[in-house]
Amino acid sequence: MLDIKVTKTTAPKPKPDQDHLGFGSFYTDHMFLMDYDEGQGWHSARIEPYHPLQLDPAAMVLHYAQESFEGMKAYRTAEGQVQLFRPEKNGERLQSTHQRLCIPAIPVEDFVQAVKALVDVDRDWVPSAPGTSLYLRPFTIATEAQLGVKVSSSYQFLVIASPSGAYYAEGLDPVKIYVEDEYVRAAPGGTGAIKCGGNYAASLAGQQKAHQMGYSQVLWLDGIHRKYVEEVGSMNCFFKIDGVVRTAPCAGTVLPGITRMSCIELLRDWGYTVDCDTRLSIQEVMEAAHSGKLEEVFGTGTAAVVSPVGKLYYEGDEVTVGDGGIGPVTQRLYDTLTGIQWGALPDEKGWIVPV
Ligand SMILES: *Cc1c(COP(=O)(O)O)cnc(C)c1O
Repeated sequence: MLDIKVTKTTAPKPKPDQDHLGFGSFYTDHMFLMDYDEGQGWHSARIEPYHPLQLDPAAMVLHYAQESFEGMKAYRTAEGQVQLFRPEKNGERLQSTHQRLCIPAIPVEDFVQAVKALVDVDRDWVPSAPGTSLYLRPFTIATEAQLGVKVSSSYQFLVIASPSGAYYAEGLDPVKIYVEDEYVRAAPGGTGAIKCGGNYAASLAGQQKAHQMGYSQVLWLDGIHRKYVEEVGSMNCFFKIDGVVRTAPCAGTVLPGITRMSCIELLRDWGYTVDCDTRLSIQEVMEAAHSGKLEEVFGTGTAAVVSPVGKLYYEGDEVTVGDGGIGPVTQRLYDTLTGIQWGALPDEKGWIVPV
């Protein structure tokens, strides 16, 4: 249990217009901070007015990217209640990220307590317009001033919060995807299964190429053979082929998404066969598309929840998924997950944590 010292702002900011929130453009009045020093452990948990950080220019995070992050949301129900979706899963995943990057662990209970405390202080910032939410960004940075490559002896853990607009202002919208056969996102033994900034820096070139080609996201193939489908942009990816739902196994190069695990559970409840243990090759996907068996493709992640894929481009061949629209399974997952998250549907799974 953290002892969190709260210092409230004396100059609250005006709230932004809920119809033009966008993503990541506005930040709330407060932030959570906690420090780590060798010999002392995590200490000085506190909430302070939102402010810029002061870092030594030699702080190790700036040079060697010893950094972890999480992404989650606080939702406001129609009754005005504020709630989180499976926050302990984010805490568990942050622990595995910290382990891989040699950052000291933060107990899951402390993580959830920190997130809840910030949301509570900034409760008025959780927007209420349909589809809007308060996006939460917990992250840890290595703060020791040291240019030698080693494990930092000091860290700061922070949580910031950003009111965000509806991802789909006009309903679900299928996207066009570029299958990347040159750059890779992750390799076995690397950091593809954890959430760290370095993964994203390395993904930008592929993303930029896809944009230049007129596609909105990259479908990443495995780093060794460039053969098996792994993720789409910063989302997990599902394929419904001839009645069976398939997604890449989380075996070291795929990020274990909380939306992914929730979709698998719902699909199995509904009686679908879900194969998340067998790798799926891009050839199989393209062949299924050509024979009319590629029924649905969608990405999953906290930001978009579920993102339907309408077209795939791979090595000169552009194919349409299903009829290019939104498949019934994609739509049902979207409706069910958003229903639970915003409180319109009962929480039969115990996934909701009120703040
Ligand atoms: C965060 C992330 C996801 C989605 O995870 P959720 O827990 O569902 O938000 C998928 N892939 C990558 C690479 C990610 O960073």
